[in-house]
Amino acid sequence: MLHVLVSACLTGANCKYNGGNNRNEELLSVMERLKGKAEFHLICPEQMGGLPIPHPASEIRPSDHAVIGKDGRDVTAEFLLGADIALRTAKKYGCTMAVLKERSPSCGSSGIYDGTFSGRVIPGMGKTAGLLAEQGIRLFGESQLEEFLKAAENGE
Ligand code: SF4
Repeated sequence: MLHVLVSACLTGANCKYNGGNNRNEELLSVMERLKGKAEFHLICPEQMGGLPIPHPASEIRPSDHAVIGKDGRDVTAEFLLGADIALRTAKKYGCTMAVLKERSPSCGSSGIYDGTFSGRVIPGMGKTAGLLAEQGIRLFGESQLEEFLKAAENGE
């Protein structure tokens, strides 16, 4: 059985910073299609790190990689704790892949906002995505579901 971490907000959980979610119907269909082949383990690193919902949007400051809320609060510790718990979850279940929300300062795996709250995206990874990648977990964003499905079906 393949074990996969999934950003909970992509499945419709209202764990996003503003109390909403990023429900992705294509992902839900892919999860349904993989029933019996894969087990999915939902994570929300920001919630697991102790941030309340809602909380101010946060971005990674490129100069020192600290995570700063739009209100100016340094929330790096919460983000690192959430990343650590996500990694422990991956290890507990033997997860080899993760489908994570793109551009998030926690879950983004192929680009993140530039720290100015202007909507500009720069190359980089969120705190959780970076830690999981370092440990050899294969990451997919919600725009890479076809690739993910293929890899999961082939047990790659
Ligand atoms: S931390 Fe990840 S799972 Fe949680 S709301 Fe943000 S993008 Fe979604």
